[in-house]
Order: sequence, then structure tokens, then C-alpha cells
Amino acid sequence: SNKVNILDVEFDKQTKAETIDLLASRLKDHKKTFIVTANPEIVMYAQRDSDYMATLRAADYIIPDGAGIIMGAKLLKRPLPERVAGFDLLKDLLAVANCEYLNVFFLGAKEDVVRKAVTNVKQEYPNLHVCGYHHGYFDEKDEKVAEIVKKAEPDLVFVALGFPKQERWIKIHFPQFHKGVFMGVGGSFDVLAG
Ligand code: UDP
Repeated sequence: SNKVNILDVEFDKQTKAETIDLLASRLKDHKKTFIVTANPEIVMYAQRDSDYMATLRAADYIIPDGAGIIMGAKLLKRPLPERVAGFDLLKDLLAVANCEYLNVFFLGAKEDVVRKAVTNVKQEYPNLHVCGYHHGYFDEKDEKVAEIVKKAEPDLVFVALGFPKQERWIKIHFPQFHKGVFMGVGGSFDVLAG
């Protein structure tokens, strides 16, 4: 199997380079994809929230984000090749989007933060198309926000609502999209905003 089970969370065994290759090809094929980057905090949270555990089960890929996951896998004698930091994956996906002229949507963080993040992304990755952005302070069940994202026809959707909200948003709204690679990115927009 290509998965490693840690406390019922099924991590993917790929290296970072393999993960990027895989996601680049899924982007090319317009294959809908739900990515979770999971650290020990997320694994522990899922133990006591069965709804969140079900959300993790809905993910196509669970990426080991954090040395604690790599260490846990080693102790369980089911080693994972390497840590893949969520922020690194985000940057690599932006680079792919830049090469392939993809549509990217930024959902989350405070209005001024996401706006600044978008300004910086456009400067660093001039060939990708920011097809839209929206702040992250709304009810996750809100259909209006999901509709805005859908109308923008994104190839990539970065959701920065913090966990567990960002994964819940993806799980709830994913079925109504025809394409898109969706990934929860926590506090990354704050970093991109500089
Ligand atoms: N955030 C948001 N809506 C919310 C709660 C948080 O947009 O309802 C944003 C917040 O502004 C920050 C990001 O989520 O940019 C991540 O927050 P945090 O660092 O607490 O999450 P973590 O990285 O631990 O998942």
C-alpha cells in the first residue's frame, strides 16, 4: 500500500518531489483533489472529533506536515520518506500554476492580509492568474462564498481558515465543483503577505 496509518489517519508515502509531480499531473487532467497537510495536532484532534476524522477520510491525499509525524511513523515501524511542510507545498504549487498559467483562488485570512498576499503572489508568479480572493470571516456553510469561488473556475483553491475550519469548508463544498485542487494552508497567507 502507498499509505501509512497513524492513529487511523492514512498518510501518503510519497516524497515531496513525487507529491508535486502527482499534483501537477492531476492539475493537468483537471482531476478534483482534496489535500490535507496534517501535523500531530490535527491527528490528535481527529481522535476526539469523529466528524473531523470523517473529513480526513474524504481527503485524496494526507501529507505528513511535521517532524512529529515522521517520528511517529518510524516508531510504529511504518516509515514515511520525509516531512512535506504545508508552506513548501503551497510555494511549489504556485510555481506549477505559474508554469501552466493556471487559475488560482485565495480564500481566507483577514481582508487586508489576503489582499497583500495576492499582490505579492502576482509579483513573484506573474504568469499564474489570480481568479479571485475572499477573506476568511464567514460561516463555513455559507453558500454565497462557495458560489463566488465556483464562478471563478479555479484550478487551485488555497483555503486559509485554520484547522479544522478549512478542511470542513473543503469537505462541505467540494462536491459542487467540477475541477480544482483544494488545500488547507493555515496561516500561510499571513506569511505570503510578509
Ligand atoms: N482565519 C480565517 N477565518 C477564521 C479563523 C481564522 O480566515 O474564522 C485565518 C486567520 O486569519 C489566519 C489563518 O486562518 O490567517 C490561520 O490561522 P492559525 O494560524 O490560527 O491556524 P493554523 O495555521 O494553526 O491552522
